[in-house]
Amino acid sequence: MQSILQRYLPDRLAEVILTQAELANHVPLAEMSNDRLEVLGDQVKNLTLPITGTLPLEKATVTGGGVSIHDISPSTMASKRCPGLYFCGEVMDVHAHTGGYNITVAFATGHLAGQSAARYALAQQANG
Ligand SMILES: Cc1cc2nc3c(=O)[nH]c(=O)nc-3n(C[C@H](O)[C@H](O)[C@H](O)COP(=O)(O)OP(=O)(O)OC[C@H]3O[C@@H](n4cnc5c(N)ncnc54)[C@H](O)[C@@H]3O)c2cc1C
Repeated sequence: MQSILQRYLPDRLAEVILTQAELANHVPLAEMSNDRLEVLGDQVKNLTLPITGTLPLEKATVTGGGVSIHDISPSTMASKRCPGLYFCGEVMDVHAHTGGYNITVAFATGHLAGQSAARYALAQQANG
C-alpha cells in the first residue's frame, strides 16, 4: 500500500495516512477488502491536520508586528515621528504570504528608504 500511495503523495504523508487508517504499509493492494479501501480513500480525502501551535521565532519565515505603517510616510519611508529616520522590510508591521511578496517588500522599501535617507543627509549637509 505504501508504495502505491507514494506515487500520489509525499512519502511521509503516505505513512501518516496509512497509520491513521490503521493499515499496515506492507499489505499488498490485492489483499485489501473494499471496506478497507474505502477507509483509506476517506483518509486521503478527509485528512484533517489540527494546528497545535507555531514554531519558535528562529524558525519564522516572516513576522508580524513592528513599526506601524501609519507612522511611516509611504513616498519616502520616513518616520512621521522622528526626522531623519527611515524604515524598511521586516522592521515594519507588514507581512504577506510567502511567494516572494515579503522579499519584494524588503527590496522595494529598502531601495526607497536608502535613497530617501541619502537625500535627507545631502539636504542636511547643504543646509550646514
Ligand atoms: C527560511 C526563510 C524563508 C523565507 N522565504 C521567503 C519566500 O519564499 N518569499 C518571501 O517573499 N520571503 C521569504 N522570507 C522572508 C524574507 O526573507 C524576509 O521578509 C526579508 O529577507 C526581510 O528582509 P529585511 O532586510 O527586512 O530583514 P533581514 O533579511 O532579516 O535582514 C536584517 C539584517 O540585519 C542584520 N542585523 C540584525 N541586527 C543587527 C544589528 N544590531 N546590527 C547590524 N546588523 C544587524 C541581520 O544580520 C540581517 O542581515 C523567508 C525568510 C526565511 C527566514
